[in-house]
Amino acid sequence: MKLGFIGTGVMGQAMVGHLLAAGHTVNVYNRTKAKTDELVANGAIWCDTPTEVASESEIIFTMVGYPSDVEEVYYGPQGIFQTAVTGKTLVDFTTSTPDLAERIYQTAKEKGAASIDAPVSGGDLGARNATLTIMVGGDEEAYQQVKPLFEVLGKTFQLQGGAGKGQHTKMANQIMIAGTMTGMTEMLVYANQAGLDLPRVIDTLSGGGAANWSMTNYSPRILKEDYSPGFFVKHFIKDLGIALDEAKKMGLDLPSTTLAKKLYDQLAEKGYENDGTQALIKLWWQDGKKS
Ligand code: NAP
Repeated sequence: MKLGFIGTGVMGQAMVGHLLAAGHTVNVYNRTKAKTDELVANGAIWCDTPTEVASESEIIFTMVGYPSDVEEVYYGPQGIFQTAVTGKTLVDFTTSTPDLAERIYQTAKEKGAASIDAPVSGGDLGARNATLTIMVGGDEEAYQQVKPLFEVLGKTFQLQGGAGKGQHTKMANQIMIAGTMTGMTEMLVYANQAGLDLPRVIDTLSGGGAANWSMTNYSPRILKEDYSPGFFVKHFIKDLGIALDEAKKMGLDLPSTTLAKKLYDQLAEKGYENDGTQALIKLWWQDGKKS
């Protein structure tokens, strides 16, 4: 099948690799061209614009950073909607707003195309190991069409409802992650201060009621003082901002998520916005080194 993929950063790069390995033709575009070099060397086809990707492909995936990037690649002067998309299917993997997902769905429908929002969870490792969880919003028919490709990229995927419901599910996911990241960080700070052996504590906690994905995946990186992304602090702040905006629209107050966002904002103010989210511990440990 002729696929298109726009946005080959931390996540997109690995995902395109799996689609190529599964034997698909993949037309690629990324703002920084160099990030497609390795993929092109492995058989991907470079396109000069998102418009060209869309005109050359049957199913077009996007995995960019922010809602503003999504808007640009769909509606911009070199965007997907600048070409005829009749009969094509558009899939946005970016964590973005439910409203924008609904708008893209409507525009696509008016142009005779299908659109689904399909944000993911599972981190850089999930993308690399093809174990992503994919949260889908849109029509059943489009979901069924794209499902075999989700099977190449992930392990868990479900249609959550109409357009935008994938993004709402991802917000529910991020609200949970806000709790596990702050919990893991304070747990390590406390255990260290109490003079405990951190690898042993993590091992023990992993077998009990405190076991969680953040601890399993990020605490080993903290112990190695590896603060590379992973999942960018700046993207988590974006996600928590969307989650809190959506909660406000629904008349909900989420004090723990609000506090998590405040802590991540402080981290970004200290200059760590391009670190991975495990860098939260730098609010306690100087440069992320335990004393
Ligand atoms: P990333 O490394 O920054 O990748 C985003 C890519 O999109 C970059 O290569 C960027 O190009 C490209 N891009 C941005 N705007 C563009 C545009 N207008 N036209 C073309 N390309 C554009 O980020 P990531 O970690 O892969 O994350 C991507 C999305 O997935 C984000 O929404 C993030 O919140 C979400 N997510 C990430 C993770 C994770 O663990 N990393 C997990 C789940 C969800 P440049 O190279 O020029 O910057």
